[in-house]
Parts: sequence; structure tokens; C-alpha cells
Amino acid sequence: MRTAISEMDLKRASSTDEALRLLRDEQRTPIAGATDVYVALNFGTLVPRRFVDIWGIDELRDISARIDRLIIGALATYTDVIRSPEVRRRLPMLVEAARLIGGPQIQNRATIGGNIANASPAGDSLPVLAAADAVVVLRNVDGQRRVALTEFYTGYRATVMRSDELIIAIEVPWVEGKQWFRKVGTRAAQAISKIVVAGVRGPSPRIAFGSVAPTVVRPRETEAALAAGDIDAAAAALAREIAPIDDLRSTADYRRRVSVNLLRRFWSDTASG
Ligand SMILES: Cc1cc2nc3c(=O)[nH]c(=O)nc-3n(C[C@H](O)[C@H](O)[C@H](O)COP(=O)(O)OP(=O)(O)OC[C@H]3O[C@@H](n4cnc5c(N)ncnc54)[C@H](O)[C@@H]3O)c2cc1C
Repeated sequence: MRTAISEMDLKRASSTDEALRLLRDEQRTPIAGATDVYVALNFGTLVPRRFVDIWGIDELRDISARIDRLIIGALATYTDVIRSPEVRRRLPMLVEAARLIGGPQIQNRATIGGNIANASPAGDSLPVLAAADAVVVLRNVDGQRRVALTEFYTGYRATVMRSDELIIAIEVPWVEGKQWFRKVGTRAAQAISKIVVAGVRGPSPRIAFGSVAPTVVRPRETEAALAAGDIDAAAAALAREIAPIDDLRSTADYRRRVSVNLLRRFWSDTASG
């Protein structure tokens, strides 16, 4: 039987340098856990047929803590995130998100770098990383650059990443304040998000929404109103700052109402006392 997979031209890289050379010299597309790639291949929505498998590059799988930040290797899976004492301690909202991504099989295979690069507005790790002011570390054969996650997406499924670049890691500065995460889907787990939200109630409140616009959104007017302690003004601003659509999973009207409800819930759940 001929399948989408039988048509693949695949090379396996055993180091980051080898993978970067294959991206540049042979214009290959990276595959990490392949949980998005295989779906796209089977749906016929993925054009490239020449791939480089980066799954075996262990140096991209580390999760480590530095004085001022957490560094999560692009190949860290959700299971790695859930099991990491550093992530549990420093970024518990990412652990909450990881627990709700797919089931255990997906969590064992799907990577955080793949979630970012795939650029779905419904990617569950993205609001967490946006609210945490995370930075995406990109590398090609010529060098490395850092891009704030909030600057990484330029439109629907469009990013600033070049075709010869790999996401190497995600850097997350220490987060000060209470962390909060909610995913609204058809079921509690194993469902793509209708709305996904992450917030931090620190010295300046931060909140990010997924599935309500072409890219993950950090609504700055909403955050400014929260900083002023005015939740009603924040709710009004949020309604202006998101641009949900009707689709298979939900309606724009539902997404708008629930986003505002979640904003209010974030605010009351994280109030001190
Ligand atoms: C059954 C099922 C359930 C799912 N449930 C959820 C869910 O609840 N929430 C959610 O957010 N997602 C979900 N997903 C989607 C998917 O599992 C995630 O987006 C996952 O994080 C993708 O990681 P991956 O390593 O499998 O990516 P891959 O499929 O290997 O790659 C995805 C894209 O990213 C690129 N890429 C991968 N790694 C890199 C890198 N290091 N540098 C540059 N480009 C790279 C690839 O070229 C490709 O374009 C689900 C998928 C399935 C099949």
C-alpha cells in the first residue's frame, strides 16, 4: 500500500551542525516528533517531500536553569516538560498546558520547538510562552539570533524563521507573580483549543490568548487596564484587541464571550488573599 509516508525523502541528522548543513545545502524541512508533519502529509497539505529528521539530536533536548532564566531545548517533549523539576518549580503554567496536549503518546513524541514552528494559532504552549516573555533561539550555519515569541509570528501560520534556520531552544526569564492557565476545548483533554489563555499576575500583569486571532495575542491595552486595576476597562479593551473567527471548532461570538469571561476569571483567581 502506498502511503503519504512512503513518498518521503528523509535524512537523519545526528548533530545540530549536520542538520543545519542539510537545511542550507539540500533545502530540507526539519521533522522533530512528526506529530504535526504526519497529519499534514496525510491531509495532503504539506508540500515539501525532502526532510531532515532532527529527533536524534540529544543536545537539543536539555532543560536547564541559569541564574536568570530557564532554557528549554527545542526537542524537549511535553513529557520532558511535565517531568522537569525546574519547569514545575519555575513555569508551572507550562506543565499545566503540557498535561492537556494530546494524550500520553503525543506528549511522549511532540516537541515544544515543533509547537512553536508549526505556528498554529491554537498551539497550547504559545500563550504560556508569550505571557512569560519567552525568547526563541534560532540558528543557521552562519550564527544564532534571538527573537521574542511575541515578535516571532507575522501572520496566520507565518513566522520570521528562515528556511535554513532551526529553533534551537526557548529561553524563559524567571516569572514573578502567580501563573494561570486555562484551555477551553470540546473535552478536557485530547481536543484542539477553542480558546487557550495564560496569565501572570505580577508587578505588571501579563496575559496571552490563543485561537482568537491569526497569531497568539498579547493584548497590550487590556494589560494596561489590568495594571491600573480596572477589570471592566480591561474586558472592554480585550473585546477590541482579539479577532476571533467562526470555524469548525467554534464561533467568533462564543470565543469573544468566553475570552472576556476567562480574563475576569484570571483576575479573580489570582487576586491576593
Ligand atoms: C492526536 C494529536 C493531538 C494533538 N493535540 C494537541 C494539543 O492538544 N495542543 C497542541 O498545541 N497541539 C496538539 N497537537 C499538535 C502537535 O502535537 C504539536 O504541535 C507538537 O508540539 C508538534 O511537535 P512535533 O515535534 O511533533 O513537530 P513536527 O510535526 O515534527 O513539526 C511541526 C512543524 O515544525 C517544524 N519544526 C519542528 N521542529 C523544529 C525546529 N526545532 N526548528 C524549526 N522547525 C521545526 C517542522 O518542519 C514542521 O513544519 C496534536 C497532534 C496530534 C496528532
